[in-house]
Amino acid sequence: MRALIFCLFFYITLFANHHREPISLQLTWLHQFQSAGFYVAQEKGFYDDLDLNVTIKEYQKGLNVVDAVLAKKSTYGIGRSSLIIDRSNHKPVVALMALFQYDPSILITTNPTIQTPQDLFNRTIMMSLDKLNSASMISMLLSHGVKVEDIFVQEPSFNIEDLIQHKIDAMACYISNEPFTLSKQNIPYTILNPKEYGFNFYGDILFTSEDELTLYKERAKRFYTATKQGWEWAFEHIPETAQLIYEKYNTQNKSLEALIYEGETLKKLAFDDDKPYGTLEPEKVEAIRNVYKISGMLQNIHSLEGFIDPLHFAKDIVKIGVLASREDQEIMPKTWSNSEQYLSDLFTSHQFVIIPLSFEEMEKKIQHGDLDFIITNPMFSIQLSQAYGISQIATISPRYKNHFYSEYGSVIFTKADATIERFNDLHEKKIGAVSPRSFGGYLLGMKEIGMPSLEKNILFFGTHANVVKAVLEGRVDAGIIRTDVLENMQEDNLISLSDIKILHAKKYPDFPFLVSTELYPEWVLAKTSHASEYLTNEVLSTLLKFSSKPKNKQEFRLTTPLDNSKVHALMQEFNIYPYQKEPYTFIDALLKYKYFFLGLFIPFIMAIFFIMHIQRLNKKLREHAIEIGNFNATLEHEVEERTHQLTLLNSKLKELANTDELTKIDNRRHFFLLATQYFYASKRNDLELHIFSLDIDLFKQVNDTYGHAIGDEVLKSFCHTIKEIIRQSDLFGRIGGEEFCICIQNTTLEGATTLAEKIREHIQNTVVVIDTQELPKITVSIGISSLQKEDNEIFDIIKRSDEALYRAKRNGRNQVQIILK
Ligand code: GH3
Ligand code: MG
Ligand code: MG
Repeated sequence: MRALIFCLFFYITLFANHHREPISLQLTWLHQFQSAGFYVAQEKGFYDDLDLNVTIKEYQKGLNVVDAVLAKKSTYGIGRSSLIIDRSNHKPVVALMALFQYDPSILITTNPTIQTPQDLFNRTIMMSLDKLNSASMISMLLSHGVKVEDIFVQEPSFNIEDLIQHKIDAMACYISNEPFTLSKQNIPYTILNPKEYGFNFYGDILFTSEDELTLYKERAKRFYTATKQGWEWAFEHIPETAQLIYEKYNTQNKSLEALIYEGETLKKLAFDDDKPYGTLEPEKVEAIRNVYKISGMLQNIHSLEGFIDPLHFAKDIVKIGVLASREDQEIMPKTWSNSEQYLSDLFTSHQFVIIPLSFEEMEKKIQHGDLDFIITNPMFSIQLSQAYGISQIATISPRYKNHFYSEYGSVIFTKADATIERFNDLHEKKIGAVSPRSFGGYLLGMKEIGMPSLEKNILFFGTHANVVKAVLEGRVDAGIIRTDVLENMQEDNLISLSDIKILHAKKYPDFPFLVSTELYPEWVLAKTSHASEYLTNEVLSTLLKFSSKPKNKQEFRLTTPLDNSKVHALMQEFNIYPYQKEPYTFIDALLKYKYFFLGLFIPFIMAIFFIMHIQRLNKKLREHAIEIGNFNATLEHEVEERTHQLTLLNSKLKELANTDELTKIDNRRHFFLLATQYFYASKRNDLELHIFSLDIDLFKQVNDTYGHAIGDEVLKSFCHTIKEIIRQSDLFGRIGGEEFCICIQNTTLEGATTLAEKIREHIQNTVVVIDTQELPKITVSIGISSLQKEDNEIFDIIKRSDEALYRAKRNGRNQVQIILK
């Protein structure tokens, strides 16, 4: 398989090489940037791509390039503007492309006294004696009164040193070379450029023989195309091109810098404004020929026809689509085929092709970028501009007799003998029209009739002529066609206007056609997005200029665009695209106002997020509040509890502080405190107050006999017994180990003594049993004293009651003693 592919490839290569015609190009100069485009086409494979095998031949001294090409020694050659003289002298040379729009030849001088061409009078100038090569310079001198006889011409040495050393006053050179050399050496110079004095010659011109064009038309076209591509590339990539020449073709040993300078300078000479590269214009050729004539270099005035690109292969094809009904053969082609030639004659650089198209075909071709311009009815042009961005550049004025009319309308007509007189009579009648999209041949008429119910009566016949025929043959009762059709058909003897009756005929000043409706702007010339601005400007300016010359016999002319607002209004009224009112869906609204909705939607979403966020925060806040509430309640409870416990504790503490631990009666400190209060209260109120001092008798023995623990139990029992006897208001405290005090208020001494006796007796008689064990019996001695007027504090009484107690002890114990004073 691989072998097969290889063989196939091999044969294709062989075949291709075999069929690659060898052609040659004869240069007129040595290798340098002036040949750049050809080298680029060669090196970058532009020639290869188009199956051309090109040999580029360097110039040899003494060679006449024109003769070499005409003798078929070379296929193509480089000539100069003097090719015009050759052609005028019947040499069959054909110019294909101007490599440079301007001649690089200039006169240069380092002599500061020379500033204008006049200053060269009687000077020595180094320039070619060949008048053809020096034509522009000689013409410049002549135009300033300096004849060839008035100067000393010196043969070129091409050595600039001769100028620097003032051996000569001026020399002919290329603007792309010598000025650079002088600048490098800082030598001031003056340039006398023929172009600036109005002698605008072409620089180099690519040419061939008429035979080449006749015999190898296709090959010539390919060579032209590849060469043009090469030059355009070279000027777009000057540094790369200079590098290429520097490495491969630098026979003049220029520096890379000098080659780039040359490229930049030549680029300025190669292009003229924004005309396509290589343009050759008949006006300029004619102007150059006039200079040759005036300077006596040319006597012959043989026609230059066919000198510039006679096959149009260099011309860009401009396609104009014209709306034409398919069978509309009788009327349209006459206009447009004449126009095709008319336009191509006006534009030497372009070939115009007019293509008749149906509505559908036109739309398709615009879509595919196949058309540069279109000519169509104003309604369709509005639709196309909406859909494909075509733009109207002019309104068409078709010619009728010797006048041009830029407005048209509809004619609604019947046969002359019909019974129909008015639009109202059209009910239930058949009406013929051109097509539903026809502006003059349907819509305008329908608008005028103003009866939408008539739509079902309409028959479409495709062309205006067919509608006329159908009416005249009685197939329909009335017809709608555009104005001027009837008159043109009569001119061509196809119908007679006397057979026709116009309904609702109207008259407009200076409008020569039968008409039933208002007038609307005529058809439209529009550019598609495909047409360049340059081409559009050229076409428009030329056509408008020619339109102003009434003598021109063209079929139509252009006027600046007329106001189409009436057409828009009509389309609106009839709901025609782009004005149709389709049911408006939610999606449409969404699409139409998507940015608006988006604008609303985003803040809406943000608001929702914000609200949700706030709600979340609120919820958290509530939760926290509840927690805090709970916590507070707990805290309150705890505080209450604590307070309660504290109160308990406090009272306990107080109790502890005030109570004797063993016996649970008031301790010594508390007893004295309360007794003091009793003391002062009794004293103030003059009440009686009695103190008992008590001491258990021989208690030491109890301890010694039964142990300290039993002693304690006895003490507790002792206190218990006394508490049972005394009143609540009586104070009872433990003062020391087994010593006690009782304070009795508001009782007589007698009552107090009785109480003391009662205590003594009860103690003596009390038997205490603990865990079946009987406690030892005890007795108590009691000393009594009472508050006296001279007593100052409670201890004054206690002192006496203690004394009474000692007395009781001394007197044998278990008794009550009283000491009052
Ligand atoms: P008198 O009749 O002279 O008072 O004789 P007495 O033995 O009671 O003598 P005194 O009052 O001098 O002795 C007190 C004794 O009481 C001494 C001590 O052993 C005893 N006692 C004091 N306080 C306590 C106590 O809290 N518990 C016990 N079990 N014995 C105590
Ligand atoms: Mg004692
Ligand atoms: Mg005692």
